[in-house]
Amino acid sequence: MSDPDRPLAGRHALVTGGGRGIGLAVARRLAGDGASVTVTGRDRAALRDAVAELPRAQAQPCDVTDPAAVDRAFDAAEAAFGPVDILVNNAGQAVAGPFVKSSPADLRAMLAVNLEGVWLATQGVLAGMLGRGFGRVITIASTAGLIGYPYVAAYVAAKHGAVGLTRALALEVAGKGVTVNAVCPGYTDTDLVAEAVANITAKTGRSAGEARAELARRNPQGRLIAPEEVADCVAWLAGPAAGSVNGQAIAVDGGETAS
Ligand code: NDP
Repeated sequence: MSDPDRPLAGRHALVTGGGRGIGLAVARRLAGDGASVTVTGRDRAALRDAVAELPRAQAQPCDVTDPAAVDRAFDAAEAAFGPVDILVNNAGQAVAGPFVKSSPADLRAMLAVNLEGVWLATQGVLAGMLGRGFGRVITIASTAGLIGYPYVAAYVAAKHGAVGLTRALALEVAGKGVTVNAVCPGYTDTDLVAEAVANITAKTGRSAGEARAELARRNPQGRLIAPEEVADCVAWLAGPAAGSVNGQAIAVDGGETAS
């Protein structure tokens, strides 16, 4: 029987992009549930700060778009804390702009971090999970993986790819003790939204308050999602109660994708 207060005790969770935003909230939540946590990302100072506040954590800096760096970081993570039981593919970026002004390089950049990064990180852990008969792969996709949005075509395409990858892998590993799911937040109050607000302000002359309110209005609850709400969903998927949940793309969006 697992301890209900520490349902992830004895588990090793690796969170890509765990130094800030949703990734940091996830790292805190999984650590609170008893997991040992590895945080990865490019910003070493942010990773150091994250590790300092978590009970049993390590940082393994890496850029998820660099296959060799991912391999090195994941090997080092497993050498220190043992095999990864829970992978949270959180690292991501968004660029905005009209499609007609976008370049193939914009598309490649979005695919590299939001889709290929998920692919590489998952390849780093999945064979081991299958061998041990347990694993949880949880990808922070987006409502942009479920529906379209204007002016972010490359991001939307990449996030739809991440949801598609989730569904395909879920079927491939079903029955082997491993589940693969996506969490799809609506606009969430992090640096990513702060950048979107700055972008809207620069391009439209609207105030930051107006721009934030416009993004919040996309959510039928009229607010931005808190990173901790996304983390709660991740923790549930990682825990013992969600063993039969596989291949799902769960929206945490106040109902934005319900219509
Ligand atoms: P932030 O911009 O606050 O954080 C992004 C995180 O991703 C950082 O930890 C960053 O770490 C990491 N990251 C970015 N690029 C790379 C890279 N090449 N290699 C490794 N790590 C990288 O954004 P959020 O916390 O909001 O975003 C987290 C995830 O949630 C993303 O996948 C995003 O698409 C998704 N999402 C966000 C929503 C929102 O409204 N905020 C809504 C829906 C989904 P570092 O800089 O150290 O590399």
